[in-house]
Amino acid sequence: MQRPSQIKNKHQKWTDLTFSGLESFLAGEGVNPIHAATLWKMFLREGMDKSHPDKHGRLPQTLNVWLAQNKPFVPEIVSTSLSDDGLTRKSLLRLEDGEMIETVLMGYTGRTTACVSTQVGCAMGCSFCASGQSGLTRNLRAGEIVAQVVHCAGVLQKTDLGRLRNVVLMGMGEPLHNYDSVMNALEIISDSRGLNIGSAHITVSTVGHVPGILRMAEENRPFNLAISLHGASDAVRESLVPAGKRWPLDELLDACRFYGKKSGRRIFFEWTLVSGKNDTLDQAEKLAEKISGIDAHVNLIQLNATASFHGAPPSENMARSFQRTLKESGIPATMRQGRGGDIAASCGQLRLRTDSSTDTVRKYPQQN
Ligand code: SAH
Repeated sequence: MQRPSQIKNKHQKWTDLTFSGLESFLAGEGVNPIHAATLWKMFLREGMDKSHPDKHGRLPQTLNVWLAQNKPFVPEIVSTSLSDDGLTRKSLLRLEDGEMIETVLMGYTGRTTACVSTQVGCAMGCSFCASGQSGLTRNLRAGEIVAQVVHCAGVLQKTDLGRLRNVVLMGMGEPLHNYDSVMNALEIISDSRGLNIGSAHITVSTVGHVPGILRMAEENRPFNLAISLHGASDAVRESLVPAGKRWPLDELLDACRFYGKKSGRRIFFEWTLVSGKNDTLDQAEKLAEKISGIDAHVNLIQLNATASFHGAPPSENMARSFQRTLKESGIPATMRQGRGGDIAASCGQLRLRTDSSTDTVRKYPQQN
């Protein structure tokens, strides 16, 4: 597995490095590498006021001097919106170059989850997803991905919901289109010397980026994999997910089988139900057939409204029949709870805006 032992380009910072990378980097800077642990404790675990590191107690002089010149940037919280039920909080964060990203904290009791972004915008162009509608601006650095998790952990400290349990890469962007930064970020997030979120609680959600899935398998990455499938034939899938043209269904499912075999993990398939497109029982049957033999779980999601996609979610009855058809074929399937729709924080509604993005949302009757 490739480990960054040094800062590779001028945009990279020490906060982008894995533990061993930070140790080597500090050594090169004339700082005792033992302080990698101190830095991680301060910046990842304790959520201190990072603009005043010296408030944290007495630090060795060499570290203090170095830190004064290498202050990490902490994303500025531009706004936060809380869903009506108080359980979903969307934060708009401003990065050092002024770009903005969104991070969502979902407060399911006992399984609080941070949904983080991996890119500013997204290049995959899925027609029904707000992030895809705006195109890709740039990749996030590992430290910018980690910073979102630190932000969520900090927010949670002020509640009685317990510590952050899960991280899902289901915010803006395609994680496997930004492979190196994402994998470094996940190594940092799962490291017990830092945030200590177990790899079994981390899920990489992908549009179906086959080379990325194969690379994860070859590198024995231990994370859960969720595939945004949305179609059980190439024609249906391509109509919603243009990346399906590049990575056809059979090739994608072969990659999933390989990942499942190498990692021993169950594969999650995401299926956003769009009325008249992929909600037919024929699609449910085809899906069951296509993924039979894979240790799989299907997450059904009712389409959330976005500005420029004129589709609608199916009726509750239709959605339940789809789910039943899968179950009768032996495929475990759950209907994902809609979360944060009132603040445009549900799947596919995240989008770069300085004002509240709710005004870009067309409302549908609540389906869940
Ligand atoms: N690029 C990654 C992660 C971001 S999207 C991926 O494709 O998986 C996270 C999930 O939300 C995906 O399954 C995506 O298909 C789904 N999604 C996107 N837009 C949606 C919408 N408008 N309604 C419901 N689900 C949506």
